[in-house]
Amino acid sequence: MRYLSTRGGMTPQPFTDILLEGLAPDGGLAVPESIPQVDATQLAAWRELGYADLATEILRLFITDIEADQLRALCHAAYTAESFGSPEIVPVKPLANGMSLLGLSQGPTLAFKDMAMQLLGQLFEHVLERRGSTINILGATSGDTGSAAEYAMRGKQRVAVFMLSPAGRMSAFQRAQMYSLNEPNIHNLTIDGVFDDCQDIVKEVASDLDFKQRYRIGAVNSINWARIAAQIVYYFHGWLRVAQRPDELVSFAVPSGNFGNILAGYYARRMGLPIRRLVLATNENNVLEEFFRTGIYRPRSAAETHATSSPSMDISRASNFERFIYDLLDRDGARVSKLWQQLATDGHFDLSSHRAAFADHGFCAGTSNHADRLATIRQVYESTGVLIDPHTADGVKVAKAYQEPGVPMLVLETALPVKFADTIREAIGIEPPRPERFEGLESLPQHVQPVPNDAAAVKALIARSARL
Ligand SMILES: *Cc1c(COP(=O)(O)O)cnc(C)c1O
Repeated sequence: MRYLSTRGGMTPQPFTDILLEGLAPDGGLAVPESIPQVDATQLAAWRELGYADLATEILRLFITDIEADQLRALCHAAYTAESFGSPEIVPVKPLANGMSLLGLSQGPTLAFKDMAMQLLGQLFEHVLERRGSTINILGATSGDTGSAAEYAMRGKQRVAVFMLSPAGRMSAFQRAQMYSLNEPNIHNLTIDGVFDDCQDIVKEVASDLDFKQRYRIGAVNSINWARIAAQIVYYFHGWLRVAQRPDELVSFAVPSGNFGNILAGYYARRMGLPIRRLVLATNENNVLEEFFRTGIYRPRSAAETHATSSPSMDISRASNFERFIYDLLDRDGARVSKLWQQLATDGHFDLSSHRAAFADHGFCAGTSNHADRLATIRQVYESTGVLIDPHTADGVKVAKAYQEPGVPMLVLETALPVKFADTIREAIGIEPPRPERFEGLESLPQHVQPVPNDAAAVKALIARSARL
């Protein structure tokens, strides 16, 4: 299997060559040159597999330049009962009326990003070892991504993480989770500013190509293909857990921001997994819902982006969306390139003439708002006793509108409620339960270095502590 760029300007490369890169050299995103097919016999043979073995079977279709036995070892190291709280790794939790949660948030940071990031940590270490190289990951976070990356990379010999966060602007739980890590290769840096200031510093450092090369600066952002590949696995796992018949259709509802999670569902469906609907749920930031309703993609400015009670979905542009558009336009890189140029000049593009194809690919979409989240959290809790987080609530709310009799609906649980205690208290007036391993988290000593809101200061710090 080799990888191409969505803009058509990259010579085909194997997986391990694109693993550590961000954007393709032509500014596009890496995509597999073909979509592997899985038939009913194959699916039946996978029924009894544990999560790590299922991951191996699916990932080896996309990763052909790491030996199967080696890949199996990496998957087993990533998906352990110890990291995910139980040997199931991803439990299915029934709600009511054919709707269930796909429990993707049992990992070290209690959000679905662990599903991909834990594997990424293993893949990075393996490939860097093979090359005798190192990487220094520089990132900015307002919550879930930074901690998932740090928990995945902690203790790795060939990786260091420099994570910028806005001082005092994350929840107490999120701060404690990141800052309590005490590892020589993890550097929590706080900026006296907002998330956008952190992001600006990352961009400025990365634009200094000499510095970037010298200190092997890399990223683990949501466009990384390995993250998408890892996410494909749990659609198969979910289907295998709820489908009784070989051709039984199952729908999935996905709380969406950067279009990364649901993109993996789209690939699973293209691989032949019997998925009926891919229900895309947004919050008040409805860029993607608008696209699937109208065919017009119109990213918003930072000023037009609402701060909501499902903050991990507060996005203004969907970084992974380009991969879907590439397929929609019959893999015509030149056309994709033109559309993204148009986006830069006009601020939008119009694919309304392709609207029929959205439904052919199973997509439907809806939005949710703060009142909907509170009502959904309350209603699900009162009728089933299950407590859901605000992001998952966006998914449940929109899923209800698209449920069909006889078609199981799996809503992807993207975080656990304990991460968003304020909203849970507002909805039902109780404190969300916390898994035992997080008792006393906020009282652990915290390790964090304040740095000036200035790229030069951050560079100096990296130069002192980078793994070279
Ligand atoms: C990142 C995140 C999302 C959005 O996922 P995308 O892949 O960006 O669409 C939804 N919910 C939670 C809790 C998240 O952390």
